[in-house]
Amino acid sequence: MANNMKYFIGNWKMFGVPKSIKIISKINSYIKKHKFNKKYKVIIAPPFTLLETFSKKFKNTKISISAQNCYQKDYFSSDTGSISPYMIKNLGTKFVIIGHSDNRDQGDTDKIIKKKINIALKNNLKVIFCIGENKLQKQKRKTLAVLKKQIQGSLERKINKDNIVVAYEPIWSIGTGIVPNPNDLRKTVNYIKDEFRNIFKTKKTPPVLYGGSVDSQTIEIFLDISEIDGFLIGGASKSSKNFIDIIKNYYK
Ligand code: PEP
Repeated sequence: MANNMKYFIGNWKMFGVPKSIKIISKINSYIKKHKFNKKYKVIIAPPFTLLETFSKKFKNTKISISAQNCYQKDYFSSDTGSISPYMIKNLGTKFVIIGHSDNRDQGDTDKIIKKKINIALKNNLKVIFCIGENKLQKQKRKTLAVLKKQIQGSLERKINKDNIVVAYEPIWSIGTGIVPNPNDLRKTVNYIKDEFRNIFKTKKTPPVLYGGSVDSQTIEIFLDISEIDGFLIGGASKSSKNFIDIIKNYYK
């Protein structure tokens, strides 16, 4: 097991009402007593409707709260139904997921993602930047080229890399129960880190997480891939038991 800080990030997607706070409270109680709790960081991304209450409730705890997306304009605008990074930051929320494949599907291009990232960072939010190839791109062996394009197309050279976490999420793995072959995954994560070193001319890279069908069983597959700095977890993050079991099995 590598010694560097690991991330366990839960993406609730369109799930949760105020009483769902119980799920996070249970996770928080577990972490407080867990003997390895200094080795990892837990972040939960509920929908916009719960951000304010949850951000306040879990301030100064072991859990940080993240938004799942944001709009690509600063402060306020006339875009109905949109929420800016400034509005998110004002709720006490610390993180925002940007570039999730669900949002890319709904029209987010690299150009839009770049705007979102820049505005989020300007508003002192930390960004969980999602990248990943689809099934056809994988079949055509285009994975690395796709990732390179997404990274180069979405990140300014001068951005604050310390406030970025990258989540590699192959689209064919999200919600399907299919996970990458460990060797391929190791190579891909190393490639992403190398890309960052090349683009930013730096030795230090952001943490690179894996996301896609991570649960208490599949987590075992990733134990030996020390290059992975953590996990973005969708379906299994909506149950405190499932989420806690992932952490338990990772550190057993
Ligand atoms: C996700 O939607 O980001 C995700 C990783 O989902 P799941 O864990 O359910 O595959």
